[in-house]
Amino acid sequence: MENPCQGAKNFHVSNTGEHRSVFIRVHLWFRSFWGCGWTAPCLLALAVGVRVANSTGLQRFEYFRIQMGTRVQIVLYADSEGLARRAAAAAFERIQNLDEMLTDYNPESELMRLCREASHRSILVSGDLLSVVDRSLRFSRLTDGAFDVTVGPLVALWREARRTKRLPEQRSLAEARARVGYKNISLDRKAGSINLRIDGMKLDVGGIAKGYAADQALAVLKEHGVLSALVAAGGDIVVSGAPPGKGGWTIAVQSPAESGPRDKISLILHDCGVSTSGDTEQFVEIRGARYSHIVDPKTGLGVQHSASATVIAPDGTCADALATALSVLPPKQGLKVAESQAGVAALIVTRNRRQLRSYVSRRMEWYLSHH
Ligand code: ADP
Ligand code: MG
Repeated sequence: MENPCQGAKNFHVSNTGEHRSVFIRVHLWFRSFWGCGWTAPCLLALAVGVRVANSTGLQRFEYFRIQMGTRVQIVLYADSEGLARRAAAAAFERIQNLDEMLTDYNPESELMRLCREASHRSILVSGDLLSVVDRSLRFSRLTDGAFDVTVGPLVALWREARRTKRLPEQRSLAEARARVGYKNISLDRKAGSINLRIDGMKLDVGGIAKGYAADQALAVLKEHGVLSALVAAGGDIVVSGAPPGKGGWTIAVQSPAESGPRDKISLILHDCGVSTSGDTEQFVEIRGARYSHIVDPKTGLGVQHSASATVIAPDGTCADALATALSVLPPKQGLKVAESQAGVAALIVTRNRRQLRSYVSRRMEWYLSHH
C-alpha cells in the first residue's frame, strides 16, 4: 500500500513534556479573513515576543499572527532575542507566501490561475503547488477518495447550503459532482506540471494547506538553527525537538464533550504533526440533521456522522489531510487507514443524534494509556 506519510523515522513521544497546552480549535471568526488581501485588521495581527529563561541558556519566545484565515502561533527556543525574531519573521513570511499562492479568495493566486488555465493543457506550477497537489493525490488514493483536493465545486455548493440552510438542489449537485474527482488530475512530477482534464474543475486545498504551511514554517526555523519549536495554524500543529530539559511538547486536544475516553487529552510529542478536524464550530442544521463543513465527495453533502478526528502523524501535511479524510470515512475504515501508515495515530469521534462514540487506533490507545 502507498505510504504518503513516509518520514516516520523522526516520530517520537515521551512522558515528560513541557507543560504548556495548545488547544486545538477551529477559529471561525478568523476564517473570514482568509485571502482578504491582508487588509487593515490583518496587518494589525500581533507579533509579540515573550521571553522565559530556563536553565540551559536557551530562552522561550512566542509569536502570533493572523494568517491563512486563522491564528498562527510560533513558540521557539533560541539563545538570543535577535535570532528568535529573525527566525520567526522568516517562518511567518514563508506562511504568508503560501497563503497568497494557495488562497481561493484571490482570483490571481497561483492556485486559482491553475484552475482557470489547466483544463485541456498542462501548466507549469511552482514547487510548492506541485507538492501540495501531489501529496493530496496520494492521500486521495490512500483514502479511496475521501480526501479529494478537487472537491472545490461541491464545497462552494455546500457553503451556499450552510448560508441558506437549504440542501442543494439535485441538479446543482449533479452538475458540481461532474466536475469533481481526483482521478481527473494529471500531474507530471518531472516536468513540474498539472493538467485538469475536465472543464470547470476547482481545487480546494483547505484540508491540507495549513498542515503543509506549518511544516514549511518549521523547516525555515530549522534553517535558522532553531531546533525546538512549535507552529500551530489553528487546529494544525507541528513540533520539532523537545523543549530544553523536557521530553516533548504537551499538546492538549479538546475533543467533543462527553465523548470519552476523555474530554481533554494531553499528548506529549516531538518531531511530528497533530491535527484535529471537527464540526464543533462549523456545522449547519438542516431539517433536524447536523452537517459538517467537510464534504463527502461521494454524496456531495456535508458529512453527518463525524464529530471530530484527531490525527498524529510524522508531519503536519499528513496529519492535516488524514484528519479531514478520517472525518469522511466510516470510522472503522478510518482506523484501518491510520493503522496502515507508519507513525500515524487516530482518534475519531462520531455523532449519532446526540450520542458520541470514540474510535481509537492502537497507536492512539498507547498515547492515552501513557498520559
Ligand atoms: P479546518 O476547517 O479546520 O481547516 P480541515 O483541515 O478538515 O479543517 O479542512 C476542511 C476544509 O477542507 C474545508 O473547509 C474545505 O475547504 C476542504 N474540504 C472539505 N471536504 C473535503 C474533502 N472531502 N477532501 C479534501 N478537502 C475537503
Ligand atoms: Mg485537514
